[in-house]
Amino acid sequence: MLLDELRPAGGQVATLAERLTDTEGLSGPEDPYAWLSCVLGLLSVNEGNYGVGAVVVRGGGIVAEGRNRLLWPRRNTSAHAEAEALDVFEARFPELDSGRGTIMYTSLECCPMCTVRLLNSGVRTVRYLAPDPDGGMFSRLDCLPPYWRRLAAGRTPVQTFEPSACAPALSGIAADIFAATETQLNERIVRS
Ligand SMILES: [Zn+2]
Repeated sequence: MLLDELRPAGGQVATLAERLTDTEGLSGPEDPYAWLSCVLGLLSVNEGNYGVGAVVVRGGGIVAEGRNRLLWPRRNTSAHAEAEALDVFEARFPELDSGRGTIMYTSLECCPMCTVRLLNSGVRTVRYLAPDPDGGMFSRLDCLPPYWRRLAAGRTPVQTFEPSACAPALSGIAADIFAATETQLNERIVRS
């Protein structure tokens, strides 16, 4: 199991893995997806990347997952968790209307780049665990350029970007997983 691989890492990763173990019994309908997005994010932290994970759900089943791989194993500026999950999803479901009936769970509110991809993809519902007041786009969709606002407004049925109704403990862990490497990696990127 994934968490068993993370406990021996020690330090912050092991502590966060323990917190995720404690939540395994949660039974809310969104909790399994939220929990897995946290585990994926923690794998990214362990690899030296930003701690974000995402899963795509159709018909109650997980059909794609992704995690941040921005810096390891190589610099890859497209490798946000949501983008990786979308790549897998779009390869599996290439039809234009595949976003209908599809939900993405992501451990962190999406950045502008991933938000624009999601608008293009038509994934109808995106639920995030932790808000990202500094870098998140969902809370300021009215700042998008007019074309993207029109695309979002024109979707029928509409796309919804909202906080997950998962257990609050999972939202807190998601925030801590992102915070685990955020400052240190921001420093590296700013100086690169
Ligand atoms: Zn992103």
